[in-house]
Amino acid sequence: RAKETGKNNCQFYTREMNESIEEKLLLLDGLRGALEASQFCLLYQPKVDLRTGRVFGVEALVRWEHPEQGVIGPDRFIPLAEESGMILGLGEWVLRTACQQNRAWQDAGLPPLRISVNVSPRQFEDPRLVERVQHALNDSGLAPEWLELEVTEGVIMRDLQQAVAKMAELRAMGVSLSIDDFGTGYSSLSALKSFPISTLKIDKSFVRDLGRSDGDEAIASSIIELAHRLRLRVIAEGVETEQQRGFLRENGCDEMQGYLFSRPLPAMQLAEMLMAGTTRLLLPVAA
Ligand code: C2E
Ligand code: MG
Ligand code: MG
Ligand code: MG
Repeated sequence: RAKETGKNNCQFYTREMNESIEEKLLLLDGLRGALEASQFCLLYQPKVDLRTGRVFGVEALVRWEHPEQGVIGPDRFIPLAEESGMILGLGEWVLRTACQQNRAWQDAGLPPLRISVNVSPRQFEDPRLVERVQHALNDSGLAPEWLELEVTEGVIMRDLQQAVAKMAELRAMGVSLSIDDFGTGYSSLSALKSFPISTLKIDKSFVRDLGRSDGDEAIASSIIELAHRLRLRVIAEGVETEQQRGFLRENGCDEMQGYLFSRPLPAMQLAEMLMAGTTRLLLPVAA
């Protein structure tokens, strides 16, 4: 297979492919040294308040800058990292880097943002998760209110009681929790009401056809209503068009995230975008 150079430093790209076992083994092999070789980086995608248009948070999304293959997206290596157990080291790096970056933005004078970090099943089941989160906060100096963890329904349903206890511990520390990809997993509605979470995230598969599919519109508006009845906030991911945004706003969705507003960006570009936003907001006041 042709080699690709890493020209697009840490940019998003996906590739539809069925990887052969050899290709997987090759990736797995590379994954082993990738952390030590500093081949991972984080991109940050803004989360926007649907009513005010204000950016209130960002989601950290990991990328692997592979020395031969260029930038590889998480869908290709997170499953391998999960299976091999390497997710623990990688997840810890993501958590620590995200906390440090957020603190650095605050120190640079940006309006404070909440940073969201994805936590995969093995990370969530790690008995040391709470301790690791506490250390990441302590070492970075980030206040817990500015950190959110995104977990999927499946993770919680594996061992409901234990998961709820762990979420409650994190919540008590001041960290927020949200359910990612909501509607695609298997959590029962009765379990949902016992989750100590603050936000439901509507999966992008339901957002894609808003304005075109009655079924998806019914699902999205029901999730919004359900979230609000449970006193949760609700965010839509994968918002790409004005039509989708219009539907979500009309149906009372609180927040959105997607290419319509911004792709995931390197830390510097995100800061520049927010600085520019702040300046624009301040100019009329000064004038
Ligand atoms: P996710 O947490 O559900 O993240 C949303 C995905 O949708 C991201 O893909 C994001 O780049 C993409 N996206 C954002 N806006 C749009 C849009 O408008 N249209 C479309 N079509 N896609 C959009 P990405 O970055 O490839 O991440 C894929 C998944 O990998 C994530 O899904 C998450 O489950 C996992 N992941 C990413 N970073 C991490 C990480 O640091 N740790 C762990 N454990 N998992 C991660
Ligand atoms: Mg997520
Ligand atoms: Mg998601
Ligand atoms: Mg997803």
